[in-house]
Amino acid sequence: MTVAVSREYALAPLTTLALPATAAHFCAVTDVESLIQALDYAKQQHLPVLLLGGGSNTVFSGDYPGMVIHLAMTGVRQEAQGQNCLVHAAAGENWNALVEHCLGKGLYGIENLIAIPGSVGAAPVQNIGAYGVELAEVLESVTVWDRQTASLRQLSAQDCKLAYRDSLFKSAEGAHYIIVEVCLRLHTEPRPVLSYDIVKNTLLEQGVDLATVSPEQVSACVARIRGARLPNYQLEPNAGSFFKNPLIPEEEARSLLQRWPDAAHWPMPDGQVKLAAAWLVEQCGWKGQRMGPVGVHPRQSIVLVNYDNGSGAELMALAGAIQLDVRETFGVSLEIEPRVV
Ligand SMILES: Cc1cc2nc3c(=O)[nH]c(=O)nc-3n(C[C@H](O)[C@H](O)[C@H](O)COP(=O)(O)OP(=O)(O)OC[C@H]3O[C@@H](n4cnc5c(N)ncnc54)[C@H](O)[C@@H]3O)c2cc1C
Repeated sequence: MTVAVSREYALAPLTTLALPATAAHFCAVTDVESLIQALDYAKQQHLPVLLLGGGSNTVFSGDYPGMVIHLAMTGVRQEAQGQNCLVHAAAGENWNALVEHCLGKGLYGIENLIAIPGSVGAAPVQNIGAYGVELAEVLESVTVWDRQTASLRQLSAQDCKLAYRDSLFKSAEGAHYIIVEVCLRLHTEPRPVLSYDIVKNTLLEQGVDLATVSPEQVSACVARIRGARLPNYQLEPNAGSFFKNPLIPEEEARSLLQRWPDAAHWPMPDGQVKLAAAWLVEQCGWKGQRMGPVGVHPRQSIVLVNYDNGSGAELMALAGAIQLDVRETFGVSLEIEPRVV
């Protein structure tokens, strides 16, 4: 047994919400070998296992009685493939650092996903997306440790069943996979994505010619927009968007829009309608409200902030009050986006 296991390990510094919680058993793994050892340890001690990357999409509502395994394996390599390049990145790499690394190498496709906190390994779990790009568009495959067969496996992007902030890995069917490496198919030619008006307009305000805009300009623009819009989790601990944008059937949307014609919404290709969770929460008067040490950010109504050493229970009580209010006002259920443990 070479992997070092700690007991009663404080998890707040490993998460962006900084909620006080401990893991009964904790270990950080830097390669597949130590991951296997950590899993063996958990099995011998009959402990449930929780995987943790950058902790930016995990809410500890209390202490974790099992074993937290922090994925810390590193390494990035490239494989040229004609107009494309396959980038293999280990699960513990920092996502934002990978975006910057790829831009520096002239590899494009993920520049709109700059400044998203967290690890590379967690990116497929919720199919990260921002400003017109989703991981699904560049994911080639993932290498997983399959806990059922105790072997490494490669899953294609299709196998991963990526959807809006969702994937195989969030379902019971995929819970036995641990992502150890992610492979992205990036372009060697710039293909800027300017589908979001805010990105286009900000570039235009800066005097950038949209016909010749570079991926570097797009990523700098997105990073600036994010910096102005989202609270810095190091100063105001948060987990980004706390609620998913709800999808509702067309008929339901029609009657909702009759009552609230201003409701922000987007028709989806499958006939459903996506509503803006932020709009729903704001209409219920929650923007900028506090409940004890936790609250709703004054600029972002779906970002819940742990302002003053609040507990997981206090944060979940706030989330519950918002969900209830939105349900009673609009008849719409808000689903929590991060994983609540
Ligand atoms: C300020 C802020 C802004 C954000 N903006 C965005 C945004 O624009 N778009 C967006 O999509 N998200 C956003 N997020 C959410 C978050 O950054 C992403 O979900 C990110 O991918 C989470 O990575 P992580 O390593 O921190 O995940 P963690 O919180 O460590 O883990 C998340 C989940 O994935 C599981 N997991 C972690 N690693 C692995 C692995 N290797 N194999 C299998 N399962 C694993 C965990 O068990 C957990 O269930 C934001 C968060 C914050 C705090």
